[in-house]
Amino acid sequence: MSIAFDKDFTLTIGGKGVAGASTFPVLNPANEQVVAEAPDCSRAQLDTAVAAARAAFPAWSATPIAERRKALLAIAGVLAANLEDLKRLLTAEQGKPHADAVGDVMGGAYWCQAISGLDIPTTVVEDTAERRGETRHVPIGVVGAIAPWNFPIILAMFKVAPALLAGNTLVLKPSPFTPLTTLKIGELLRGVLPDGVLNIVSGGDDLGPWMTSHPGIDKISFTGSTATGRKVMASAATSLKRVTLELGGNDAAIVMPDVDVEQVAEQLFWAAFRNTGQICIATKRMYVHKDIYEPLRDALVAYAKTVKVGDGAEQGSQIGPINNKQQYGRVLELIADAKAKGYKFVLGGEASPGPGYFVPISIIDNPPEDSRIVQEEQFGPVLPLMKFDNIDDVIARTNATDYGLGASIWSADEDKAFDLASRIASGTVWINEAGYLSPLGAFGGMKQSGLGSEGALEGLLEYTNAQTVYVKKKAPAPAAE
Ligand code: NAD
Repeated sequence: MSIAFDKDFTLTIGGKGVAGASTFPVLNPANEQVVAEAPDCSRAQLDTAVAAARAAFPAWSATPIAERRKALLAIAGVLAANLEDLKRLLTAEQGKPHADAVGDVMGGAYWCQAISGLDIPTTVVEDTAERRGETRHVPIGVVGAIAPWNFPIILAMFKVAPALLAGNTLVLKPSPFTPLTTLKIGELLRGVLPDGVLNIVSGGDDLGPWMTSHPGIDKISFTGSTATGRKVMASAATSLKRVTLELGGNDAAIVMPDVDVEQVAEQLFWAAFRNTGQICIATKRMYVHKDIYEPLRDALVAYAKTVKVGDGAEQGSQIGPINNKQQYGRVLELIADAKAKGYKFVLGGEASPGPGYFVPISIIDNPPEDSRIVQEEQFGPVLPLMKFDNIDDVIARTNATDYGLGASIWSADEDKAFDLASRIASGTVWINEAGYLSPLGAFGGMKQSGLGSEGALEGLLEYTNAQTVYVKKKAPAPAAE
């Protein structure tokens, strides 16, 4: 059975499909045609979703963890079983090539499966003749999960999997640019999860702030831009909600002179341009040692010319359009700024004529360090390449940003690169690769790239409150005479 994109998409509230108070159109960024109308959740419907999550919480939090593990495996199974339909729908609303849509959906399934195996630890802090004390981790309550449009499924599962395993219930909100696949998954999970455990709502610009200020939501887990993250934190502060914030980045790649230029060029290309550069941990500025700068630049350009940009639904497309008009405008603005300042494009730099939000692969040759394209998060297929000749200088430039999400070092000398990693102020550092994430490794940003972690035990514990229980032991009865 294939999905008819003109079908009715519904909210999932309390295990039931609910039509929105109104609808809003979701566009295909490859052709600007309407993919489908999405339900627009009203304030009253959000209240109902939160109430459903609260009502489901006591039973879900009391469900044995073995059953909650099975629920995560069931979600993984539903994603895998519906992969073909979900892939087509995701490409239609997000723009990414089919192969990458498979990665997003199956990455979500893999995340659920891997997180299902984690244990929630209890620590005995004291066990003496007088008392026993233990610290355990109890669920927080209702989690409001807010996801962005670049990887709608895996980034939602980064939140759903640990929140459910820890015993919380959720209200999940996808981005208004990419709500359809998430809504469809909500529909597929009705009856798989107990009613009210996972509610899914989509809507316009008011819905996120309603969630972050909602008195019935106990924690917000947010992935999106740093600018929005600040608003989320301020709003959540009014009721001291717990927050996990996964925000923007401006990851540097440092390419040392001992690399095999031809071999790394392709990997470096994809580090920067995969998903049309719309990845929080994409390489957004590349520092290349002066001794290999020209050959590496030329190898990147040569490889880029072999890559096909096009509609993600077309066979052979490797890079799709920018997801939405707003982001398209922002990337074009950065290109226009670079051109106005006279920076040299060795590739691209011309906006494609519509329809569709296509930006050609663009590489800028050694722009100044203080240029906007180096200092700002472009989140698009435009890469500045810069020269360096001194390691202290390049580390200083790498760290001279309010972002601190990721960075990569490329070198034949792994040990030296490993030592350099400790000088970089970012939550993840890769050596001879970029962008890899394991569900068993903590992932998060330093500085203004975020607060808290996702993945691993660290990420799981973000969905818990620590609770310590002390038991005063009875004094032993006096020995009988
Ligand atoms: P965004 O901040 O515009 O939106 C993210 C989500 O927040 C969307 O669901 C949106 O509807 C919602 N939202 C918007 N305003 C809100 C408000 N005031 N209160 C509550 N919710 C609100 O981000 P985006 O454009 O969708 O995503 C791109 C950004 O996300 C980039 O900066 C990227 O680096 C970042 N990102 C970070 C990670 C990470 O894990 N660190 C992963 C992916 C993307």
